[in-house]
Amino acid sequence: MLLALKDIRKSFQSAGAEVPVLGGVSLTLDTGETLALTGESGSGKSTLLHLIAGLDAPDAGAIVIDGTDITTLPDAARAELRRGSVGLVFQQFNLIPSLSIGANLSFQARLAGREDPGWTEELVARLGLSGLLHRYPEHLSGGQQQRVAIGRTLAARPKLVLADEPTGNLDEATGDAVIALMRDLVTQTGAGFLMVTHSNRLADRMARRVHLSAGRIAE
Ligand code: ADP
Ligand code: MG
Repeated sequence: MLLALKDIRKSFQSAGAEVPVLGGVSLTLDTGETLALTGESGSGKSTLLHLIAGLDAPDAGAIVIDGTDITTLPDAARAELRRGSVGLVFQQFNLIPSLSIGANLSFQARLAGREDPGWTEELVARLGLSGLLHRYPEHLSGGQQQRVAIGRTLAARPKLVLADEPTGNLDEATGDAVIALMRDLVTQTGAGFLMVTHSNRLADRMARRVHLSAGRIAE
């Protein structure tokens, strides 16, 4: 088991009141599995992904990644586990504007101490970025920038890939192609893939899907 969520609860304070968002979410993901998490806007999808990524802490429950409960880890150890094992792709591409595409691509792998030139070369070819390595992010289209962001994440070979509406900023045809490519590349690395989307069409491209509603998961 790569990821196990056990009865995750999370509320936010709003105007002095506790607003529950996650009311006991349990979920598992195996190595090599592709899972779509759907749900209405505001249902808590991004909140759940942030908790799994260790960017925020749940009020209760356990988040076990590769055998380690991250909720009981000190902050520094949690950050290290994230750097080493978890890859994130957001709707915003978050490329570093002052770095070339080539430097953006190898940035995370270098941070994680996991540079692998052969694998990076394969990613560049598969993602269609060969002619762009010396350019800068501002000169790329949205679809190209998102392919760089995906390449940057996968270059570090994370065991768990988390994506939050990764093609939300792209048109439908571009988004569909990017998702199919991303799913194939993640599967090739043997990682587990959890993708948040509100699109049923994109969710159908994953092997399994779950739905978040009223703070709980329905399979
Ligand atoms: P989704 O990604 O499914 O659209 P979110 O997880 O972003 O939903 O948000 C779920 C609910 O939690 C929303 O009502 C949102 O306003 C609230 N929320 C999310 N993050 C915070 C925060 N940091 N502080 C207060 N409320 C938040
Ligand atoms: Mg969201």
